Amino acid sequence: MTIDSGWAERYSRQIMLAGIGGNGQRRLGEARVGIIGSGPAARTVLLYMVAAGVGVARGETAPIAGMPEVAHALASNPACRIEPLRLPEDAAHLDLLIDTGESAIDGNRIALQWQLPLLGAMPTEDGRIRLAGSRAGANPNLPCMACGAPPRQTQPAQWNTLALPATGCALASEAIKTLLAIGDPTLFTAALLFDPLRAEYQTLPRTRDPACPCCATEFIDITIATCPMTFVLVKLKMETMAPGQRLRVRLNGGEPLTNLPLTLRDEGWPVSPPWTEGDAFGLLVTKLAR
Ligand SMILES: [Zn+2]
Repeated sequence: MTIDSGWAERYSRQIMLAGIGGNGQRRLGEARVGIIGSGPAARTVLLYMVAAGVGVARGETAPIAGMPEVAHALASNPACRIEPLRLPEDAAHLDLLIDTGESAIDGNRIALQWQLPLLGAMPTEDGRIRLAGSRAGANPNLPCMACGAPPRQTQPAQWNTLALPATGCALASEAIKTLLAIGDPTLFTAALLFDPLRAEYQTLPRTRDPACPCCATEFIDITIATCPMTFVLVKLKMETMAPGQRLRVRLNGGEPLTNLPLTLRDEGWPVSPPWTEGDAFGLLVTKLAR
């Protein structure tokens, strides 16, 4: 990214905005966003990511043949790149994942596995659009996209076309907020329901569901064990699990809480920050697909 007078002029309206400024614009220029979906909502998000000066936008819709509006935005933002999105292998090179619900790919599981922030949209049975976010990959105290939500459809979502522009714009706006850590991160602890026929918005709080099958697929209680048996029991359990599954571990404070996360990370398994569970602690371990 070259910072010159052309760059300053190109993004002057954003640089003048409170919360963005020159530093924020540079951060956008270094950001890498993955967009799951290949329909109009994904194309709208892609268009706004390029227009905002996001460095790399990876999309299922790339290359951009047949998207003249995106090609036009790209011509005005020469430092931006659009690249094809291949999941899960590209997940390690993203700062944010956006799941427009227009694809059969489940962004929630990928975001959990790779500890990525996720923004997503999904139509509801009554014709509304549900917008939500997840930081559960990095913080297991927060709800994942599936916590308390209706089961994800196995087929790409059937959209109310009235909702598509609003959905794409809302996801793009939340993406810029998330990348710059500005504004109120409401969608990470709430769902926004949008009714395009009535122009009504409703915000519903969301909390983590302890029984959610996505953010913890397996559970083990090792409070009866001492080191090094704590690690041995977790390792045996992990060996029975499939790649991508997450194990919730209940363990004691003190030595187990100090030693176990270090040993698990040495094995190459991402470990969440611990949280308290009564007089014990909990943490999530992810078995990576590689
Ligand atoms: Zn969950």
